[in-house]
Amino acid sequence: MDMTRFVNTFGRYLRQKYGEKVHKVSVNASFTCPNRDGSKGIGGCTFCNNASFSPGSTKAGDISEQIRQAQEKVGARTGAKKFIAYFQSYSNTYGSLEDLKRYYDEALAQPGVIGLAVGTRPDCVPDPVLKLLSGYQDQGYEVWLELGLQSSFDHTLEQINRGHSYSDYEDAVIRAKKYGLKLCTHLIVGLPGEDPEDSLVSFDRVIELGVDAIKIHPLHIVKGTQMARQWRKGEVRELTMESYTDVLAKMILRSPEGLLFHRLTGSGERQYLLSPEWTMHKWDVLGALYKKLETS
Ligand code: SF4
Repeated sequence: MDMTRFVNTFGRYLRQKYGEKVHKVSVNASFTCPNRDGSKGIGGCTFCNNASFSPGSTKAGDISEQIRQAQEKVGARTGAKKFIAYFQSYSNTYGSLEDLKRYYDEALAQPGVIGLAVGTRPDCVPDPVLKLLSGYQDQGYEVWLELGLQSSFDHTLEQINRGHSYSDYEDAVIRAKKYGLKLCTHLIVGLPGEDPEDSLVSFDRVIELGVDAIKIHPLHIVKGTQMARQWRKGEVRELTMESYTDVLAKMILRSPEGLLFHRLTGSGERQYLLSPEWTMHKWDVLGALYKKLETS
C-alpha cells in the first residue's frame, strides 16, 4: 500500500527536502490552555482529554531529556537521525515570550533537531510569538505552526466549547502568513451536530485561506471528557469507518497540488477510548481509504 500514490504526505515532503528520514518527536513543556485555566473557560473542549491525543508525548519536564529519550526510541525504530521537536500537549504558545523562546531554543539546541512544530489554538498566537517563530525559520529551521480548528462552523465550535470562533482562526492564518510561516490546520470529522460531509466544507474553507497542510482525524470519544458523558446518554452519534474514509477520500481527491497531509487518521488509545472501536485499527482505516482512492 503506497499511500504516496494519492497523498502528499508530510513524511515524503521531509524526505525529499532533507534527503533522508525526518521524524517528529513529542515534547511536553508543561503548558496549559486558556480554555482550561479560566481565561477562556475551565472545562476545556468537550472532547479533550489531552493525555489521550498526545500519545507520543512523555511526561512534562526536562525538554532536552525528553527529546534525547524520544530520539533514541524513534531512531531505533525508524533509523531517523533528524528530528522535528513537536510541542504537542495543550497550547504551546500560551506563555510569556521569554519562556517560549527558552523552550524552543532548548529544543533546537539538541543534536539532530532541525526544526519545530508548535501546536496551539488560533486565539493564542499574538504577533510577537509569530515573529519569534518566523525568526527560527529565517535561521534555516523547519518550522510549522499547527492550529487546532476542528470545525469551521461557529455553532459546532460553540457546542464543543472551543472558546474561539472561525474568525479567530481566519485572523490567525492571515497574520501567520504575513510572517511567512508554514501552517497546518487540524480538523475533526464526526463532531456532534455535524454530518461527516460538513467537514468537507471546513476543509474547503481552510484550503481557500491558503494553508500548507492538514491534519485530519475521526472524532474519538474518550474517558474523562464532557463528550463521554454525552455519549453515555446517547447524545453523540458515532462515526463509522465507512463514512470517515468516504469523506477523507473526497478531501484527498479535491486537494490542491502541494497540500500536505500531516495525518490521515488518529489511533484511539485503548486505555482512554470509549468509541468508536475501529479507530484503534489504523491500518484497517488506511487500507479502506486506499481502496477507495484506487477505485475512484
Ligand atoms: S483541545 Fe486544546 S484547546 Fe481544547 S481544551 Fe484541550 S488543550 Fe485546550
